[in-house]
Amino acid sequence: MTNNLSYWEKKHFFKADVIIVGAGIVGLNAAIAIKEKNQKIDVIVLERGFLPSGASTKNAGFACFGSVSELIEQEKLSGTDGLYQLIERRWRGLLKLRNLLGDDNINYQNYGGYELFEAKQKDLAIECVSKMSHFNSLIEDIVNQKNTYGLSNPKIKEFGFNGVEELIECSLEAQIDPAKMMKALFSKAGSLGIQVLNNCKVEKFSSAETHIVLETNQGNFHCNQVLFTTNAFVGELLPDLPVVPGRGQVVVTSPIKNLKVKGTFHYDKGYYYFRNIDDRILLGGGRNLDFKTEETTEFGKTELVQKTLIKLLKEVIIPDEDFKIEHQWSGIMAFGPQLTPIIEEVKPNVFCAVRCNGMGIAIGSQTGQEAGEMILNSL
Ligand SMILES: Cc1cc2nc3c(=O)[nH]c(=O)nc-3n(C[C@H](O)[C@H](O)[C@H](O)COP(=O)(O)OP(=O)(O)OC[C@H]3O[C@@H](n4cnc5c(N)ncnc54)[C@H](O)[C@@H]3O)c2cc1C
Repeated sequence: MTNNLSYWEKKHFFKADVIIVGAGIVGLNAAIAIKEKNQKIDVIVLERGFLPSGASTKNAGFACFGSVSELIEQEKLSGTDGLYQLIERRWRGLLKLRNLLGDDNINYQNYGGYELFEAKQKDLAIECVSKMSHFNSLIEDIVNQKNTYGLSNPKIKEFGFNGVEELIECSLEAQIDPAKMMKALFSKAGSLGIQVLNNCKVEKFSSAETHIVLETNQGNFHCNQVLFTTNAFVGELLPDLPVVPGRGQVVVTSPIKNLKVKGTFHYDKGYYYFRNIDDRILLGGGRNLDFKTEETTEFGKTELVQKTLIKLLKEVIIPDEDFKIEHQWSGIMAFGPQLTPIIEEVKPNVFCAVRCNGMGIAIGSQTGQEAGEMILNSL
């Protein structure tokens, strides 16, 4: 097929000033940041999937900036100043995404976020409750609000949970529809003249004297600069980066009459997460059941994780309901030794912006923008 390309096609679709590889939240934001600053720069985004095929349309849509147990872990690793910067980045990132696309276009709903603790997690619950006031003061001037985290135990009954002893609420946590977000990003990119080409997998790249050559299943592309935003899959093209893939399996129940659960919920130090979506429950997680197997770039599901998710639904989340699992999928995240994303020039004119550590809704826009600015500064 590539032999049948016209002169015009080769001239206009296979060459650009900047080519971005990967049409996830980071890639599209980088493209938008470049075009918004300089309309004259030609930008193409290449995506291997018919739809984006990584994490951006397959996630849980939590617009969150940290549950208390996660903040405790982060403070141990990065210190109080480091934690402050991390939360600030996440919070500003969320504001940026909302400003860029508008709340209606991403279905932003501030129903609050919660962390739940069963009796067997009593020690963790005590530690988290004792740290709430510390985190409330730490983030007060970031979010412009006092007492963001608070104990919310009366809601345990309201939500209909079984066996939950403590519930910590984060009043500023919200939820979005990630596919709506991506549609809005595609539409914004299109309005700026950014070309997104799908079903186009970059298999290799090389630097020629005056340009970069990208070899794909659709033919060779040429550009002056390339930005890889392929996240968990970056190792296929840039094998030396400290990025480890992590698969997230997700299930969605059948509709539940008078569903009581509303909000975003974190359980077992965030290894499980669930929320309401329409009149159903979306539940994901369980990577910690078998880290080795889930450290993969292969989509798929395992009996162990699926059984555990269903058990959690039946025993804790919706114990009184009759339900079926009607949707199942997986997405692939990128993790690494630090929580900050990697945004760098890996060799002359070859850049990358990857590893949002399972927090791409909060930090994906900012990460993309910084990558875009890095390219603009290098021109
Ligand atoms: C199950 C799950 C739940 C999550 N829940 C949340 C949440 O609630 N809140 C939150 O903030 N974050 C969440 N995340 C994380 C969030 O989705 C990611 O951090 C974010 O989407 C990463 O965006 P990205 O653009 O870096 O990567 P991706 O969205 O993975 O985009 C990379 C793109 O590159 C493409 N690609 C890869 N290789 C090539 C190639 N060789 N050629 C061309 N294209 C290529 C892929 O197809 C993909 O579309 C979740 C992730 C998963 C998997």
